[in-house]
Amino acid sequence: MKLATKLIHAGQEPDPSTGAIMTPIYQTSTFVQEAPAKHKGYEYARSQNPTRTALEACLASIENAKFGLSFSSGVAATDAIIKLLVPGDEVIAADDMYGGTYRLFTKIYEPMGIRFHFVNMANPSSIKPFINEKTKLVWTETPTNPLMNICDISELAAICRENKILLAVDNTFATPWSQNPLDLGADLVMHSATKYLGGHSDVIHGCIMLNDPQLRERLYFIQKSCGAVPGPMDCFLVLRGLKTMHVRMKAHAENGEKIAHFLKVHPKIEKVYWPGFENHPGHEIAKKQMRSFGGMMSIVLKDGTKEAVSRMMTSTKLFALAESLGGVESLINHPASMTHASIPKEERDKIGVVEGLIRLSVGIEDCDDLLDDLKNALEKV
Ligand SMILES: *Cc1c(COP(=O)(O)O)cnc(C)c1O
Repeated sequence: MKLATKLIHAGQEPDPSTGAIMTPIYQTSTFVQEAPAKHKGYEYARSQNPTRTALEACLASIENAKFGLSFSSGVAATDAIIKLLVPGDEVIAADDMYGGTYRLFTKIYEPMGIRFHFVNMANPSSIKPFINEKTKLVWTETPTNPLMNICDISELAAICRENKILLAVDNTFATPWSQNPLDLGADLVMHSATKYLGGHSDVIHGCIMLNDPQLRERLYFIQKSCGAVPGPMDCFLVLRGLKTMHVRMKAHAENGEKIAHFLKVHPKIEKVYWPGFENHPGHEIAKKQMRSFGGMMSIVLKDGTKEAVSRMMTSTKLFALAESLGGVESLINHPASMTHASIPKEERDKIGVVEGLIRLSVGIEDCDDLLDDLKNALEKV
């Protein structure tokens, strides 16, 4: 089956009792058993829920994975992966990634005795000096949030395999429409389904997709023991969002390409970070491992003062000033004070998340209207 068909059908059969074509929202906490421990596979809704089962099967299918596990947020999915580790273990993580992941690693797990090394992974070999017998996990994001850096997943996976280290890839930005990390050798794929998979800015959800049955058992144990599970309504919303993901992603990417080119030559813009440009340092790798460059980009204004940034960000009418990304509506975000505020300023400046950096999540509105909106806002800068 191809992606578009999987998105609409995988894991989803008409409801056997009524024929309902949409997976019902099984809003129940428990399931009646025929005799003690004799049941239809469902006991208690923290452990299993049929709406979640359908979603997990669909999620697995779209990443060409054997298993999918669904969580109450993207961060909860990341948290479950880190819970595979014990004090003393070490992780090598990308130095430019989602601020909430950085916060979870440094503020929750570092004090518990897990050590994190943050490394620029533009060249995968740069992780080698940090590998030792305690290294258990490599965590990467590609493209990264917000600088759109690209990391070669196949190369990184080869280094991890050689050293028996798990490789987890946060595939939120690319989505399975553009990139499939498991096919490139990763062990675990994590998504914030809050973003493109759900796609309508109406649900918080996260997931993990993987192929190894033993690892799946350990993660399932963590999922039910720690309890960060999504409710059935949330699962339903993600299932419904997924059905149009391929159509939405195509529109995001088409609008993204036009807007990136418009911004690149705009006199008030210093720089546009978008992997579709030939002079983007990761362009060749992006071309190799992604099917599309997508609708996420970051820009730096020539006038990088707080005032100029604020004028631009409060002048757009269609691009709404908000955290998050990947919904049908366009959003504009200031990483330094919003999504990435939990990263210390010195760290932010070092990697390029400067005061003048603005991130755009290009939605699927009419592109001419989006271009007009940006044109008008840039006149105010
Ligand atoms: C939003 C986001 C997360 C966290 O997901 P939540 O659903 O907000 O918990 C993780 N990684 C990336 C790249 C994100 O954009």
